[in-house]
Amino acid sequence: MTVYNFSAGPAVLPRPVLERAQSELLDYRGSGMSVMELSHRSSLFEEIIQDAEALLRELMAIPDNYRVLFLQGGASLQFSMVPLNLAKNKKALYINTGSWSKKAIQAAEAVATVEVIASSEDKHFTYIPEITVDNIDQTAAYLHITTNNTIEGTAFQTIPDAGKVPIIADMSSNILANEYRVEDFGMIYAGAQKNIGPAGLTVVIIREDLLNEEAVFAPMLDYRLQSDNGSLYNTPPTYSIYIAKLVFEWLKELGGVAAITAQDRQKAALLYQAIEASNLFSSPVDKNSRSLTNIPFITGDKELDRQFNEAAEAAGFKNLKGHRSVGGMRASLYNAFPIEGVQALVDFMKSFEAEVK
Ligand SMILES: *Cc1c(COP(=O)(O)O)cnc(C)c1O
Repeated sequence: MTVYNFSAGPAVLPRPVLERAQSELLDYRGSGMSVMELSHRSSLFEEIIQDAEALLRELMAIPDNYRVLFLQGGASLQFSMVPLNLAKNKKALYINTGSWSKKAIQAAEAVATVEVIASSEDKHFTYIPEITVDNIDQTAAYLHITTNNTIEGTAFQTIPDAGKVPIIADMSSNILANEYRVEDFGMIYAGAQKNIGPAGLTVVIIREDLLNEEAVFAPMLDYRLQSDNGSLYNTPPTYSIYIAKLVFEWLKELGGVAAITAQDRQKAALLYQAIEASNLFSSPVDKNSRSLTNIPFITGDKELDRQFNEAAEAAGFKNLKGHRSVGGMRASLYNAFPIEGVQALVDFMKSFEAEVK
């Protein structure tokens, strides 16, 4: 049975990447060792982390005045690191667009002065609120946004104009799945396990002038220290960085971010069209706020949702169940997810609908 993995994260990885990792598993480049067994100070690993950075810089066209960091602790640790490093003696602004934004806000409130300038919680996070530059206090340290709301299935369609205030973006679920201009952000961060590689790695892209002047009380939480040490202040997640490098190589070979986002748009359109054409399934999300990478859909009947999820799971459509806070179904269509899997799901939805009628 063909298995299609719709997981929101840890998520599907490109098959050629897994095959390459398999072929190099026992003996990395004639070293007689696995990448997992290499010293993080060895020249072989140094090459891996440098290549990973160079490839990511190329894929995202990251300007020279931005540093790239490979950290740990997930996107969730960034919820605390961002305010600790950047919001000293200054107010931090947030837009609350979903469960992850909310967690970021709660973490920031513990260490900084926070103002939530817009929220879509009034309608269960089913839309992206509009803001204009007039809403932004120009003395604020930063404006934090979640570009793609993994659980609710919404995404910013344009990046807000924040004037001089740097935008900090949690891009965990759509980094490399949209042609963002890095210059539009002061900092971008993403847990790797959605669109980059295995869990355990967090990518941070930060503009140099935002690096903290004063040391943060805990060295591991200090961007400048991490940056000055080339992400090797302590032992980094070496194998996750290696797999991320292979994913970046795969993406580059496919034609880079422009090519993959064209595919992502096709995949999303296929599923949204099927949802719109259906008399059973519908999208709980405002049409103008839809995500391309995480697509929730519902029948409106919890028992039918349950039946659908059970039948889908048995037919090889794995991890389609919606997040426990939202219910229904959710298809996560990250870069590595094949279009054949979307077509197969659409066919399955049609036959399910025909059956229950
Ligand atoms: C998954 C996710 C997180 C949490 O990531 P961890 O790496 O588990 O901490 C945060 N923000 C967004 C948008 C996510 O999708």
